[in-house]
Amino acid sequence: MDAVVGVDVGGTTISAAVVASDGRPQAIRSVPTPAQAGPQAMLDTIARLVREVIELERLRPDGQSGRVVALGVGTAGIVDVARGSIVSSTDAIRGWAGTAVATGLRDRLGLPVIVENDVDAHAVGEAWLGAAAGAPSALMVAVGTGVGACVVLAGRALRGAHHVAGEMGHMPARGAEGLRCPCGRMGHLEAIGSGPGLHRHYVALGGDPDCRDARGVVARAHAGEELAMRAVRDAARALGRSIAGVVTVVDPAVVVIGGGLSGAGELWWSTMEATLRSEVIDALADLVVAPATLGAAAPIVGAARAAWRLIDDGSVPPDDAAR
Ligand SMILES: [Zn+2]
Repeated sequence: MDAVVGVDVGGTTISAAVVASDGRPQAIRSVPTPAQAGPQAMLDTIARLVREVIELERLRPDGQSGRVVALGVGTAGIVDVARGSIVSSTDAIRGWAGTAVATGLRDRLGLPVIVENDVDAHAVGEAWLGAAAGAPSALMVAVGTGVGACVVLAGRALRGAHHVAGEMGHMPARGAEGLRCPCGRMGHLEAIGSGPGLHRHYVALGGDPDCRDARGVVARAHAGEELAMRAVRDAARALGRSIAGVVTVVDPAVVVIGGGLSGAGELWWSTMEATLRSEVIDALADLVVAPATLGAAAPIVGAARAAWRLIDDGSVPPDDAAR
């Protein structure tokens, strides 16, 4: 049985696993991202990790997987899938923008490579085997250090004409007025809806400056601290409203919510979902809103799905722009 390798490249961790054709990932291995070491060091680290998971799988006494035939990579940043390169990226990975990731990994590993945005990979993973399995369409929203999203139609991520489809974090959002987004513009959803956005909002409201991050704000909210509860509600409301806007345009069968903040608990989730439901028209009353179910494996599974498609189609699928 042939297999592929799925890789998830984040700002702090790179994870990979060998994945069978049914989407089942073998043992997932992770290494710290050499985020400040430059793109060549990034590519070297990814290639080393891929060789390691292939070797591990070979050594497993009950190893079922045979030859590894392709590599799928989900990475932070806006990705030109047809070229396999990074269009733009935050400073989280230094010099990543402009990197020819597919070519660099193909040269190092001798395998066909497909590269896509990590949230797209996450969404396709959930649409294949997770919370949106079997649904004809889905909107996946990933809320963590940023706010990303992806529309999945018939199992495929909508990429857009400029590789930007799903970049929900950079939608103008009510509740984010006067707040600066990491992209440099004012009033985008990410400025309040992301984990760091929630934390900054809490501090701006007059919250305890010793509280370090969103996790701390959420813990305080659960302990009953009024200001922390307000910050969590404001962030969840801004997100719920923005999702309502997207849902109204796209009308997906399922909305899947994942990422670190999605596990922030009842106050965040119930506020987000109640706001979303209150903002949409009656025809959307039975919209399914579900938490992601594959956890950290989702981007690896989704990247593997793209790798299998690459083998099946025989070429890198063009972006929507080129179709
Ligand atoms: Zn922005």
